[in-house]
Amino acid sequence: MLCYNIIKTMRNLTLIIMLLVPGLGNAEPLRVFVSVLPLKTFVEKIGGNHVAVHAMVRSGYSPHTYAPTPRQITALANTDLYITTGVTFEKAWVKRIRAANPGMRTVEADAGIDMRLIGKHGHFHGERSSGHQDVSGHDPHIWTSPPLAKQMVRNIRDALSALDPANSPVYARNTDALVSELGRLDQDLRDQFKNLANRKFMVFHPAWGYFADTYGLIQIPIEKEGKEPGARALTLLIGQAKREHVKVIFVQPQFDRKSATQVARAINGRVVAIDPLSPDYENNLRRVAKLIVEAGHL
Ligand SMILES: [Zn+2]
Repeated sequence: MLCYNIIKTMRNLTLIIMLLVPGLGNAEPLRVFVSVLPLKTFVEKIGGNHVAVHAMVRSGYSPHTYAPTPRQITALANTDLYITTGVTFEKAWVKRIRAANPGMRTVEADAGIDMRLIGKHGHFHGERSSGHQDVSGHDPHIWTSPPLAKQMVRNIRDALSALDPANSPVYARNTDALVSELGRLDQDLRDQFKNLANRKFMVFHPAWGYFADTYGLIQIPIEKEGKEPGARALTLLIGQAKREHVKVIFVQPQFDRKSATQVARAINGRVVAIDPLSPDYENNLRRVAKLIVEAGHL
């Protein structure tokens, strides 16, 4: 009898709680796909438990050559929102991604952002690329610049709010907090780079163009239009590294480090990995800045 009463009371309590908290029990999170992991972090910070987010380019893969798995294509059928950022694989796959779920909303995180040309400070000459550069020659690695990430974050807020207006105050609040965080990160990085003498850094894959532009650095890429450099290009790069007093060659975990190692050996320098695709966005950029500053002081 006592047991029955307890069960009855519990059931009534549950009913009362469900009546008092609107949406509890029926609030399905928005199902969101993004292209790269840093965007997943942004969407999760803005959406909290109102979103369930997957990144298309999984950890360890390059967004320039990625091919979605059949399982991911199937998962798109149950997705509410796809957030693109114009990385190379998306341009190749966008039709098939849309076809997998015609009802799914697609939104560009990079809307309203002026894209830089990949050859701005590098060695590309506007030729068509088979690798990481799109036909227009635009650099897709926008998120590496915190001020531009702020714009992406606002675009994400607008996309979530349009699909789920009831929670738009939550999205607005979380976005404000994230924009402030990105502002503090930006200031920290400016402080870190303030007194750096050698502002040139050499990197295998040129993923840091927006980052470099934001902080007054110059990225010297080893990769040539998405490919390993030839023997002659490599010799020229080694000469340039010596002239520019480069001591560290930066590599990215998703790419082969053979050419980078060759250059490092020739200049008696070392190879250091930095990752533009880390989901731990803020700590990662602080670490990258620290490593570039250290390399510039060697
Ligand atoms: Zn890249």
